[in-house]
Amino acid sequence: LWIQVLERLQFQLSRPTFETWLKGTTAQQLDQNCLVVCTPNPFARNWLQKYYIKTITDVVQEILGQSVDIYLTVITDNDNTTISDTGISWSVPVAANPDTERPSHQLPKPTELNQKYVFSRFVVGSNNRMAHAAALAVAESPGREFNPLFLCGGVGLGKTHLMQAIAHFRWENSPNSKIFYVSTEHFTNDLIAAIRKDSMQSFREHYRAAEVLLIDDIQFIEGKEYTQEEFFHTFNTLHEAGKQIVLASDRPPHQISRLQERLCSRFSMGLIADIQPPDLETRMAILQKKAEYENIRLPRSVVEYIATQYKSNIRELEGALIRVVAYISISGVPMSVENIAPILNPRTPTVQAAPEIIVTTVADAFNVSVEDLKGNSRRREISWSRQIAMYLMRQHTDLSLPRIGEEFGGKDHTTVMYSCDKITQLRERDPSVAQKLSQLSDRINLASQTQS
Ligand code: ADP
Ligand code: MG
Repeated sequence: LWIQVLERLQFQLSRPTFETWLKGTTAQQLDQNCLVVCTPNPFARNWLQKYYIKTITDVVQEILGQSVDIYLTVITDNDNTTISDTGISWSVPVAANPDTERPSHQLPKPTELNQKYVFSRFVVGSNNRMAHAAALAVAESPGREFNPLFLCGGVGLGKTHLMQAIAHFRWENSPNSKIFYVSTEHFTNDLIAAIRKDSMQSFREHYRAAEVLLIDDIQFIEGKEYTQEEFFHTFNTLHEAGKQIVLASDRPPHQISRLQERLCSRFSMGLIADIQPPDLETRMAILQKKAEYENIRLPRSVVEYIATQYKSNIRELEGALIRVVAYISISGVPMSVENIAPILNPRTPTVQAAPEIIVTTVADAFNVSVEDLKGNSRRREISWSRQIAMYLMRQHTDLSLPRIGEEFGGKDHTTVMYSCDKITQLRERDPSVAQKLSQLSDRINLASQTQS
């Protein structure tokens, strides 16, 4: 089956894509509607998961004539397939997983945690030193010192990582103790389900039996009166019994609006540890550590360059690294600042440009005429360059979609919108498109500056 699938995919995907990501994969059909695809490394897995899972699923369904769930995993050295270390385990379907239908009151298992979110993979810097120390203290002796521990900081700064690190640590040190890590949303859903099923009693017993209760993104409790009410009692019961509570939020308690005063004061009675954006040195250390774990060698100059580009969100920093590695492996060019710069800055600061400059620049670059760009020809090269020109006009001007349509001989605004979406998607998944767009942008910037 898989050979058949690969044959078809070969036609649908570009050659570099196919060679880089699909060569070397194998598959095993577990049962009628479950196919496990083994990839050679975590990068291939992530990349396929992110960009090609739909294409693969479609092809498999076409061949089998029925729907299938596809699970991507990584082959380990001894050739056993294992849970990939990216947090997605066998039990989690790869397809849309709204995570809503899980029976409530089920003991969360360690597999629900991201295996990477452990203390040893957390880089300590001046920005997160206190939060890290507090998390470690709580993990070592829960319920003693900081109760509750309230972690707060902006998006992508490591709150979830630290919380799950506490959970991992506890599980390793006392596997039988009840450690619950849940999102606020999950807590709320459980509560709603309990009300519906008339099983409040077991809901309460469940949560109040926790030895460590970690609730993520507690800011989402704002305005949810009923959840606040119930959580208040859970909190009190646990706290009085000396059980550890850890909360994470993107802002401090007093900035969570529509939060009951009594909850606000309880959230603040332990330690509030905030996490700031990391400095350059810490960002570099994070990249280095990540690269080490993924077995990637990175020149220092490259690490430094990436770290200077992404300052306020570590998730983006990591995303950039993944893009760089993917690009280097597809294109085969050496890993150097020069080569990676264009793909890291797909949105080079754009200068406002006159529509005419954009059109002529694109016409020039693709060797088509301005008339063709503005005309109705559907020839492939022409409609492709037209879409790019529309996209660039959206980037380089303040013109509305209908106005851009007018610039192209009176096209409908939905056509413009479609073009912009399509190019944006391609830019995100094909580094060579990103690079081309960035070059075009540079030329437009240059032409605009020399003109004005
Ligand atoms: P938050 O919950 O604050 O939005 P996450 O905990 O999800 O952020 O972190 C985002 C990503 O950045 C994760 O992949 C995490 O592993 C990584 N990360 C954050 N802080 C650090 C750090 N200090 N060291 C290593 N990785 C980190
Ligand atoms: Mg988080």
